[in-house]
Amino acid sequence: MKRLSFYFLIVIVLSFILVQSCSTDEEETITPTVQTLEPEEQLKQYTLTVTSAEGGTVSTEGGTYDEGTEVTIIVNANDGYRFDGWEGNDSTSESLTITLNSNINLIANFKAIDTSITNDPKEFNYDINKDYTEQIVDFYPSAFFASDLSENVINGVNLALKTAADEFGKYGPVEYWVMGTNREAGNVLLNQFCERREALGQWDLAECLSSENDESRGGSMISYIAKGESLVSENRPISSAGHNGGFQWGIHRLTSSYPHTLDNYFDYISYLEQFKVIIHEYFHVFQLASVYNLENEERESKIKPDGAIWMMEGAAEYMAFYTLFKKIEDETLYFSESQRMNYESLKIVMTNNMSIGKRLISERCPEYKLKDIKYGDCQGPVYHIGPWAVAYLLNKVNNQNILLNTFYPNLKELGFEGAFNLAFGYSTEEFYEEFDSFLELPIEQQLEIIPDI
Ligand SMILES: [Zn+2]
Repeated sequence: MKRLSFYFLIVIVLSFILVQSCSTDEEETITPTVQTLEPEEQLKQYTLTVTSAEGGTVSTEGGTYDEGTEVTIIVNANDGYRFDGWEGNDSTSESLTITLNSNINLIANFKAIDTSITNDPKEFNYDINKDYTEQIVDFYPSAFFASDLSENVINGVNLALKTAADEFGKYGPVEYWVMGTNREAGNVLLNQFCERREALGQWDLAECLSSENDESRGGSMISYIAKGESLVSENRPISSAGHNGGFQWGIHRLTSSYPHTLDNYFDYISYLEQFKVIIHEYFHVFQLASVYNLENEERESKIKPDGAIWMMEGAAEYMAFYTLFKKIEDETLYFSESQRMNYESLKIVMTNNMSIGKRLISERCPEYKLKDIKYGDCQGPVYHIGPWAVAYLLNKVNNQNILLNTFYPNLKELGFEGAFNLAFGYSTEEFYEEFDSFLELPIEQQLEIIPDI
């Protein structure tokens, strides 16, 4: 038998040489047939199956691959959905690379995003004759959008507002007006704002239009439209948002220029940057709700003692960061790695705040004292050092909710110093001194007061 098969092979080899010499001129070798003589061990093959559940798509359905092949799968959530992890793999990344060493079955899961708080400016989700001020209400903030804004922006703003209202309490009525980059679309929204005021008997239409079209007035609707336009023309991340009062109408009025990170407009800025700003703004709603019914001057003096803004802005910024990372930790919120970027943890964003704050102080405000900073030239560092002041206080009493449960609920009655004493057990003067020495510590030691989320 052996001999027979040997001859048989010789015949194959010869016939191959013949075929080869017919088809080419010269220098053909018989190498290919040698390979058939001693075939190498064949590579194993495995099957990859990738499917997507309702709410999105995957870049590949899989197939059969040689052992060891690397395959990358990218998921894409539809509008109104977000990626919610893999079945068959522990990764939570939207871009998953796997090595085929066995048959693999993967399912990409998606979750519907709740976008239930978009409003028609002509409709009202509350009883317009009722006084809700300083009360917890049963409805979410109302958000109004210029028509040039994307689904991503609308969903992002609504989710951030809902997150904040769930965490800090629903106060209202809250109107959150969001401008885009297009002036015409912005003007339509500005008109709707004024029509709404007139419909509610709050402001004469012509007066409203003239005031809101005054670009030189800070906080006018047109000034927010202009910021979005500048962002495009200068290709820089220019943005602004604010609580613009509304006390005379019994509402919280907030306005935002184009919240560009929700569209990932600049690929070097995290999606969470503007998402955090919205939670920050809603914390101002919570702060102001506690002293809402006071006369303007008294309200201001309780929120900002002697005009100092560190608690007002520091608390809004710290509570926005803290809430964000807490909700990511307990899986109420999910963001992809590409959305998060430098928003890796509370400790990391607070480390950045400390170094930016210290740099701003040394470059622009060497005489900086936390208790003296008002809105104006040196307000910049307050947004970075203020959150540390608040983090320091919350850690001192080991209660991250003390602003929500004790300080602000007692502010109207006790005033800033009284509420401060009640919440933190000592005077602001003692705190300022303590905090000054804290700022001198190395960052590793400072980070010990920041929750590990
Ligand atoms: Zn603020």
